Amino acid sequence: MLIVQKYGGTSVGSPERIKEVAKRVARCKNEGNDVAVIVSAMSGVTDSLIAKAYEISQTPSNHDMDILLSSGEIVSASLTAMAIETFGFKSIAFTGSQAGIITDNCHTKAKITKVDTKRVAKAISEGYVPVIAGFQGVTDDLIDITTLGRGGSDLSAVAVAEALKADLCEIYTDVDGVYTTDPNIVKDARKLEKISYEEMLELASLGAKVLQSRSVEFAKNYNVKVVVRSSFTDDPGTLIVKEDSIMEQVVVSGVAYDKKQARITIHGVPDRPGIAALLFTAIANENIVVDMIVQNISIEGTITDISFTVPKTDISKAMEVSKKIAKELKAAEVLLNEDIAKISVVGVGMRTHSGVAAKIFKILSENNINIMMISTSEIKVSCIVDLKYTELAVRVLHDAFELNKI
Ligand code: ASP
Ligand code: MG
Repeated sequence: MLIVQKYGGTSVGSPERIKEVAKRVARCKNEGNDVAVIVSAMSGVTDSLIAKAYEISQTPSNHDMDILLSSGEIVSASLTAMAIETFGFKSIAFTGSQAGIITDNCHTKAKITKVDTKRVAKAISEGYVPVIAGFQGVTDDLIDITTLGRGGSDLSAVAVAEALKADLCEIYTDVDGVYTTDPNIVKDARKLEKISYEEMLELASLGAKVLQSRSVEFAKNYNVKVVVRSSFTDDPGTLIVKEDSIMEQVVVSGVAYDKKQARITIHGVPDRPGIAALLFTAIANENIVVDMIVQNISIEGTITDISFTVPKTDISKAMEVSKKIAKELKAAEVLLNEDIAKISVVGVGMRTHSGVAAKIFKILSENNINIMMISTSEIKVSCIVDLKYTELAVRVLHDAFELNKI
């Protein structure tokens, strides 16, 4: 088999950990497999590089940020390749550029446009274990280093697995799989043996930290077989697979929470065609990802309110844009609420079972938790609640759907 293994920050967090990674790679090779490795930066490195940059400048250029941040993965890739060689296997480190990871030129949030596997495939065929720096790529003209956004080495791994037509993409992290909810909040949260791409996608974009959501989307689109497992244990982990009939018997498979969103409300906006387009185009132009949007029906058909959520990291830009548009529209005011959390219940079974949303609302109300915003998809119900009720809401919903019995 050809296996792509991705090791996250804690898995390569120290020289000792890197040796453990090399041992695992060696074991996989000894079992007769070909292996390609993708690594994250050593844990904390990306954060600390960002902090240093902002200690020096409030407005570092994205181009320079990419050069800075890409260094983290280059360090861990080269160290990991060296470690693998000490176990008697040929190994070679590649930067994203050397590994043919081509991206657009959107610095710090680049998208992969192509993976040219020539060099990596050649290395594998010559018996090497290529170790590729995750999270980074190069523009089409092979000139500029780019990075793929936080958590982007998951995406590197899935994209390389797809390009190499690997049999399996193993994502090694510090938890042994995907849980029904955060075990730090609910002690009897269960590890799922399998989860569908759709559910994983919802959970990942809802704040479950095991996998970057773009990587799940990619895996889903290209049908890359992914398993999430721990580099600290031999637990088989959680397999991410296509939705099948067995899974539909479970209505709900997870409860997620996200404390990283803030809500912006624009009061007194004229209720006429084009207003939402104007506002959200301006927000999109700043590359801000809006999550939930709620617009009230205006009673007299003239004035309404629009509320939406954005990542806390984008608050200042989003507020600036909102205030500018509010002024143009002569809206009454722009309000910000940072003390919110999004609680989401996810399950493919919702496609065929009714009453899930009603049950959620009932449970929350029984616990005196007020719901500020609601959004649903075919397989998810999300509610915005006061930040201080996050843990309580997660716990009571996990209990109500008996997820400890999955
Ligand atoms: N090192 C990058 C980050 O911390 C990418 C990754 O680890 O996936 O976001
Ligand atoms: Mg990660």
